[in-house]
Parts: sequence; structure tokens; C-alpha cells
Amino acid sequence: MLYFLLGILAVIGVHTILLKKQMERRIKINRYHMIVSALFSIYTIFLIEFLHDRKIHMNYELLNIFLIYVPIGIAMPLIYQRYKYFIRDVIYVVLIDLYILILQNFSTGKHNSLMILFSLLGLLFGYFICTCINHVYPELRKSLILKKRRKKIVISLYEIETITVCFVVLFSIIATAEQVSGKNTNKEGKESVHQTSGVPQEEGDRYSHIYYADADKYDRYDAYAKKNPRMPLEEVVWRVDANLDQEFYDEKYIKYADENTDTPLLINKFNRVEDDFEPDELVALEGDYIATPQTVAAYQKLTDDMEELGMKIYVCSSYRSVNYQDRLYRYYLKTDSVEEVDTYSSRPGFSEHHTGRAIDVSQVYNKLEAFEGSDEALWLYANAYKYGFIVRYKDDQTDVTGYIFEPWHIVYVGEEISNTMHDEKIETLEEYVVKYVDHHKP
Ligand SMILES: [Zn+2]
Repeated sequence: MLYFLLGILAVIGVHTILLKKQMERRIKINRYHMIVSALFSIYTIFLIEFLHDRKIHMNYELLNIFLIYVPIGIAMPLIYQRYKYFIRDVIYVVLIDLYILILQNFSTGKHNSLMILFSLLGLLFGYFICTCINHVYPELRKSLILKKRRKKIVISLYEIETITVCFVVLFSIIATAEQVSGKNTNKEGKESVHQTSGVPQEEGDRYSHIYYADADKYDRYDAYAKKNPRMPLEEVVWRVDANLDQEFYDEKYIKYADENTDTPLLINKFNRVEDDFEPDELVALEGDYIATPQTVAAYQKLTDDMEELGMKIYVCSSYRSVNYQDRLYRYYLKTDSVEEVDTYSSRPGFSEHHTGRAIDVSQVYNKLEAFEGSDEALWLYANAYKYGFIVRYKDDQTDVTGYIFEPWHIVYVGEEISNTMHDEKIETLEEYVVKYVDHHKP
């Protein structure tokens, strides 16, 4: 938005100066031509803003860039009736592209060189269409071209465009410098952060419509949004609330579960139990495995229904003490590095298995690796919520949960929570807790 306003100001400024200059020189001005030129410049600035703030995916993005440049390809020669300047127009478009790339580079750390290619393709395609129009319908072209006194205004048009290009470049340098320097230190920096959700962005007010946004985390939201420019603001906020902008296991953010809670809901890489934690009551689940009574009852119902459908699953793990997890974690460390082990095993105190509500299952006894893709796994993925269970570590949520896809790991959260998550399409407990436990939906 800031860029858009600055851009429009630049266009108005340039045109005002030119108007004055022309009056001094007593050159007759074609007002229509001035208006068209100004509108075209504003359109170009809008284009920059649109591409800058876009949230569309890669393929659409390139297609859109292509389509957006088609009208420019048609409009440029049609408006100005000057095919001989086409090369200059192409340079103009490449400059705009470079401007976008600079912005992109600073805001995401990545850039997309395909964008230039697709914009040029769009431009050439538009130009091709324009040429066809000229050959096939010369009278249409005549009606499209604005009446003008060419000799008298040709200098001013040239100046308008040259100066506009200069302004766009200058303006891009200022905007980029501003983004680099002022981002975290002043309030204006906030405005230059990407706004991806399309809501009005009053200064300091970007998050006030999100009920789970915490006023003291605005700086973290800004920083995370900058790193993830295509992520909707709502997602930015709940992710930061869940500390996902921090390193897993960062001591500063680790919270111990309330001692008075028998079964803490959220246990992950920021939320742990005390070393001596044990649920109040644990009962037999299957074989030697134990779990909380509610978990056992729900699991019984779930497996009964599965058996009716001809499917059988076995428990491979359930409740684990912190001590046991400690031994397990250190055992894995004998063969794998800490980074590797952390993707599939919890550090002691951080395992959901401590709660007595998590169960690892497989259709092949004691063989978790065999579970993925099986009929049983697919059924569980789709139906576990009906019994108060959720598949906790989903395949596309590894950056939220911190664990690789574990189709076998289900956790009992109760039907109220599992149904809400299912209805609201909430994929992880992290998101649920931010939206429904830590904050109350208005
Ligand atoms: Zn597990």
C-alpha cells in the first residue's frame, strides 16, 4: 500500500512538472494523451504493487504475470502509435521486473527469474495481437487511437515516460533501502511488511482483527510474515503464538505443563511434563500396554468398528515414563545424530506418550514402518476423529509438529476437540490450542 501511494504521488508529481514546463514553452497540450499516460503509469504502479503483494502459487503466478503483460503489449503501441519504440518499452518492462525482483529478493531471500521471461512473453504476445489487429482491422485501430497533434506532443510524451521510468527506479531504490534499514526499528517498517490477507492495514493495526493475536508479539509476527510472505496473516499469527518462529527446544520458550492437570493436552517441542510426571490413572490397553481409561475406552470402540470392517490393528507403544523415553532417546543417539533423532523421537519430557493418551499402532505386529499407506492407515486418517483421536504427526505438517509423518501415532483428545478440528479443518493440535485454548473465539 505504501508503495502504491508513493508511486501514484510520483506519477502525479511528474505530470504536474511537465504540465508547467509545457505551459512555459507554450506547447499545446493534448489533455487526453496526458490522462492516458497518467492512467497507464498508475496501472503500472498498481501492477508492481499487485505482484509485490501477491499470494498466488507458482504456476498461477507465472500465468498471471503472462496475462497481465498482454494488455501492456497491446496498449503501448496502440496508445502511442509508435512501433519503433517497442525496444524501449521492453526495457521499461524489464526495469519494472528488476524492481519487483529486488523487492522479492529482500523480502523473501528468494527470487524468481522466470518472472522476467513470462512478462516478456506476455508483452510479445500482446504486441503480436496488436499487430494482427492493425493488419486485419485497420479501422478498429483508428478508432482506438486517440486523436492527437503528434508533432506538438511527441517531446512531452517522451519526457513523461523517461522521467516516470527514472522515478520508478529511484523509488525502488528508496523502497528497498527503507525495507533493509527501517524494518525492525521504526513503525513505518511495519507497513512495508507483506500484507497477504487483503485486509486494510492501518499502522499497528494489522493484527487487531485476529482474535488470537497478542499485542506483545507484533514484532515477531512482522518478522515471521517477512520470512513467509505468501502465508496468510492468520496463519502467521497462530504459528508465532505456537512459537514456530523459534528453534525447537529453545529453553526460553519451554513451558512445563500445569502440575494439577492430569492429562496435559499439548505436549510438543516447547511444552513438556515434569520428570516425575505420571497420569493419575493408567489401565490395561492391550498386552502389557497401558493408557488412561478414557483413551482405552475410545480405542476399544475404534478397534471394534475396524474389526467389523475386517481390519485389525495392534498396539506397538502407548504410555511411556520420562525415564523410559530417556533410555529410548539415548539408544537412538547411538546410531543417528541429534538432528536426525529429533525428527522421529522426542527428548525425555517432551513425548506425547507421557500423557497416557498417545498410541502407536500398526496392522503388522510391532512393525510401524509397514503401516503407511495400508487400508488401516487410510481408514484411521479419515475416521479417527469420530472416536476422539487425531493422527498427530501428519505428512504435510512436519514444520509445525517437528516430526516426520507418523501415520501410526494417534492421540486421544476427546470427541469435542477432534470434531472441532475436523469441522474447522485444523490439522494440528498446535493450531487448535492457540485458537481454542489459549484464546477464546469471540
Ligand atoms: Zn508415537
